[in-house]
Amino acid sequence: MSSFSQAFIPYGRQTISEADITAVESVLRSPFLTQGPAIPAFEQAVADKVDSRYAVAVNSATSALHIACLALGLGPGDRLWTTPITFVSSANCGRYCGAEVDFVDINPFTGLMDVEALEVKLKIADLEGKLPKILIPVHLTGASCDMESINRLAIQYGFYVIEDASHAIGGVYRDRAVGSCAFSQICVFSFHPVKIITSGEGGMATTNDTCLHEKMKTLRSHGITKDSDSFVFSAPGAWYYEQQQLGFNYRMTDIHAALGLSQLERLDEFVEARNIIYKQYSDTLSSAPLSLLQIPENVLSSVHLVVIQLNQGVRHLHAVLFNHLSANNVGVQLHYYPVHLQPYYQGLGFRPGDYPAAELYSSQSFSIPVHPGLSKNQIEYISNLVLKFFDEN
Ligand SMILES: *Cc1c(COP(=O)(O)O)cnc(C)c1O
Repeated sequence: MSSFSQAFIPYGRQTISEADITAVESVLRSPFLTQGPAIPAFEQAVADKVDSRYAVAVNSATSALHIACLALGLGPGDRLWTTPITFVSSANCGRYCGAEVDFVDINPFTGLMDVEALEVKLKIADLEGKLPKILIPVHLTGASCDMESINRLAIQYGFYVIEDASHAIGGVYRDRAVGSCAFSQICVFSFHPVKIITSGEGGMATTNDTCLHEKMKTLRSHGITKDSDSFVFSAPGAWYYEQQQLGFNYRMTDIHAALGLSQLERLDEFVEARNIIYKQYSDTLSSAPLSLLQIPENVLSSVHLVVIQLNQGVRHLHAVLFNHLSANNVGVQLHYYPVHLQPYYQGLGFRPGDYPAAELYSSQSFSIPVHPGLSKNQIEYISNLVLKFFDEN
């Protein structure tokens, strides 16, 4: 196939139906564009879907991570640990709260936080009196981390766990939906258009803890409460509300919530389509000198991303293959360049060599396109480009 006949294939994109459009339109014709009924409806639907007691909708996963950290009391003098192979938000949320951020290296086969490395780091931190207050494991590509082991360490060492499940709505870990918070205090989803379901921009935090739920609801809207039972002062009149702490305007609008709620109905369908594409790639690319990131046992991945890792012998072709696919209209992207190597984090003292597995991963991996609308022909086009590239190089 000639490269000129192939239109650009993005690595990810939204799948919008007529029902989604109708749902958004009906909000536009309704009395409430924001702070209306679509928000609690979307929250309840997500909580029901993932089997959590509560869900709090906000305007992004980044906002959800921020108020999750604040609700758990993170502040100056505290420590937050996450993985270097993630989007910067998983670390930045700690910095927003004035906490110190540190990283745990990854397992090279799954790309997920390495639980053995975590255990070693915790032992040392314990001796030095530098244990984290919060750990943020990231369910990279939609595959859940080993939450049972992480939870065991959380209990042993006394830290909180926020799951960054921005990639992973619709995923399952040991027969439980990601988001059920069976092994964490809070779980966060993103509804950015490249993610599994979208609300345009948006995020949600799920929890089973009544107190955390209340705190996050307050923090997303300026720290204001209108619930007279929880007022600090006696109400001088019916107009009264109280700002009891410093919050933000992180609210989701009803327009976004209606889209998210409509999309949620097709979540299982999307996850199934993505898993089929993962399987197709693993078949069509089986003879190439590369491997797909492994999905752990006991995990159903939502397959937000398909990441290829070049074998050691062809690792030097990483950038060449990346550029070759780009030049042939295939949307490729590195998920992710290690966060600790970003200038901002190097400014805090992190250096190349700090997390060798993460750095090696980023020098030999990138994502190839996956979204429910990707056709079999497109998968073959991409796979053939890769196979032909290795024949010729
Ligand atoms: C996309 C993403 C975020 C941020 O999501 P937004 O909704 O865009 O704020 C955070 N963490 C990870 C791992 C992500 O992929």
